[in-house]
Amino acid sequence: MDWLRREFLKKALISTGVLAVPPWRRALGRQGKPMMFQPAYLKLDQSGELAKRSEALWKILGECQLCPRGCKVKRLAGEVKICRSDRRLKIASVGPHFGEERPLVGRHGSGTIFFSQCNLRCCFCQNWEIAHRGDGRHLSFGQLADGMLDLQRRGCHNINLVTPTHFVPHIVRALRIAVSKGLRLPLVYNTGGYESLATLKLLDGIVDIYMPDFKFQDGKYSHRFCAEAKDYPQVAATAIAEMHRQVGVLQTDEQGIATRGLIIRHLVMPQNTAGTDRFVRWVAEKLSPKTYVNLMDQYHPAHQAGQHPELARRITAAEWAQVLKWARAVGLENLAS
Ligand code: SF4
Repeated sequence: MDWLRREFLKKALISTGVLAVPPWRRALGRQGKPMMFQPAYLKLDQSGELAKRSEALWKILGECQLCPRGCKVKRLAGEVKICRSDRRLKIASVGPHFGEERPLVGRHGSGTIFFSQCNLRCCFCQNWEIAHRGDGRHLSFGQLADGMLDLQRRGCHNINLVTPTHFVPHIVRALRIAVSKGLRLPLVYNTGGYESLATLKLLDGIVDIYMPDFKFQDGKYSHRFCAEAKDYPQVAATAIAEMHRQVGVLQTDEQGIATRGLIIRHLVMPQNTAGTDRFVRWVAEKLSPKTYVNLMDQYHPAHQAGQHPELARRITAAEWAQVLKWARAVGLENLAS
């Protein structure tokens, strides 16, 4: 009887949202019985494919072409170029984060891992101490795996990999260790959007949730503001279309926690420098009006942004109102609130 009473109380607390449990324990089967949430990577691990992908990714570091910069430096031999990263994994922080999108945060937070350095290097970066200066410390794969497992133990709803692009081979190596020790959370690939199609293909079936930025629609701006990445608009469009193909629109469980799918972030900038009207139209026409889109109004001139007149102020209320009109006009149905 005690057991029945406890179960009744637990279900009541869960249904009212007072008690939240991570998705791998919360998901319910057809008869309402608990079942294990299955992150995408489990299948690949069981078939041996994850090990093959890990090897293929590690080889790329020999002459690095992990991202569209295609530097071809020998990172395994200690060479570095634009992302300033060699073979060693570097991480700034690991912990639950409550400032991310609501479907990622739930009640226990998104299990966020901030990687040091970046392949895009935007002059307005709000995390420039980590992304440009490279704050952080070198960790082993085992330590990264332990960090993932610790986030799971703390009840986080996902593993949120922030700026992961230049460390994808390291992440997949650590993932294999973590999976063997019981990791079952969905992976969130949280990126600036400057991604190589070849690397994304190797992540197919590993990542459950993609969360790219789509920053600029005009290469003139990405060239000026993001370390000469003139091809950013085309590259990001191709990459995000591939992410959409792999995981589709965002799916959530019965408590609104993301389990799979695409979230796109777009930082609205002064004088429509980010090309927001073109961005929302592209999403509605090329992906789906149901795409989960976070239009962000919090831009402020961080790092070196003050040196550029287009970036030297916050956006105005009128600019924000215009953005919302554009989004409504193209029929976007799933804007982050
Ligand atoms: S990951 Fe770094 S070294 Fe490799 S291609 Fe990109 S910027 Fe260059």
